[in-house]
Amino acid sequence: VPAFRLNQVRDAVYKNFAASWDEIAVLPAPLRDKLKAGFRIHSVEVVETQTARRGDAVKFCFGLKDGHRIETVLLKLLADKWSLCVSTQVGCPVRCAFCATGRKGLKRNLSPDEIVDQFLAAAAYLKQTRGQKIGSVIFMGMGEPFLNYEAVLEAVNTLSDQQMIGLGHRHISVSTSGHVPGIRRFAKDLPQCNLAVSLHAVEDELRNELVPMNHNYPLSQLSKAIADYIAITKRKVFIEYVLMDGVNNSRSQALKLNSWLRAVAAPKYFTINLIPYNHTGGKFKAPAKERVQVFAGLMEGYGFETTVRKSMGEDIAGACGQLAGK
Ligand code: SAH
Ligand code: SF4
Repeated sequence: VPAFRLNQVRDAVYKNFAASWDEIAVLPAPLRDKLKAGFRIHSVEVVETQTARRGDAVKFCFGLKDGHRIETVLLKLLADKWSLCVSTQVGCPVRCAFCATGRKGLKRNLSPDEIVDQFLAAAAYLKQTRGQKIGSVIFMGMGEPFLNYEAVLEAVNTLSDQQMIGLGHRHISVSTSGHVPGIRRFAKDLPQCNLAVSLHAVEDELRNELVPMNHNYPLSQLSKAIADYIAITKRKVFIEYVLMDGVNNSRSQALKLNSWLRAVAAPKYFTINLIPYNHTGGKFKAPAKERVQVFAGLMEGYGFETTVRKSMGEDIAGACGQLAGK
């Protein structure tokens, strides 16, 4: 096949989000038939899509070639701005106490293709069903991105490559449960992407319980890594904090969070994302709305930009922590 056909296929798949060979009309029919017989365009296959009642979230269940299932969520954050939450592993080895993804442990890492193809398949769906586009990607689905670092890096490169998808680094965010070596590499490799750290507690005893990764990288190491990240990149860090009633949402814990963050960097370097706990069947409870507001008000009062994450897709088990690939 002449080399220019490769460019045609690449443009069709990565720029126009063709999901089947038949959609690639520039190819001669005999070539299309040959390709159809031998190759699939995406390494992930849509098994099911579920749309939230409000229409602002769509959850995809994808099947992988070896039969594993993963989940990916499209979220409408603003009027017509869609964000895609992608998975990086089948399951997750970190096993946070409050998260459904970690409950069954790690099955395996995803390949770079399997990460990028979540985007291509979701983009194709959005184009066909609503004529809209995905504006940003967040690595906050199933898995701990920095325990699959190489694949995440390669996926980010494909997502941002102008010849491929062409999404700017500033529209790409990676969320980690606090993998210190990963944060250090990320600062060097992708300083223009956004970093989110899932903190949830600033005392080792409690954090060990909530985020077992803390045994390997305790808070003292995590604070140094975040401080160095900010020094290298001069960028803000998003701090994610899942609020669980009676666990980490007291006034004194808000004050401790304030002191811990201030010891890392000035408040202007942080945006605190408070996430009211989403039900996953465990022992935890979400705080009442008023208590969430009190915690948010305290952090704002201490000088931090603070947002309370709106829960989306709860009715389709597509909200934070609910992805389980069932
Ligand atoms: N493994 C990475 C990214 C995926 S988890 C990480 O932990 O950062 C994405 C976010 O969902 C994290 O901030 C995580 O703490 C949060 N989360 C997990 N379980 C949750 C739950 N039950 N309710 C609300 N947020 C949850
Ligand atoms: Fe893994 Fe993140 Fe869930 Fe923890 S919160 S188990 S790191 S996916």
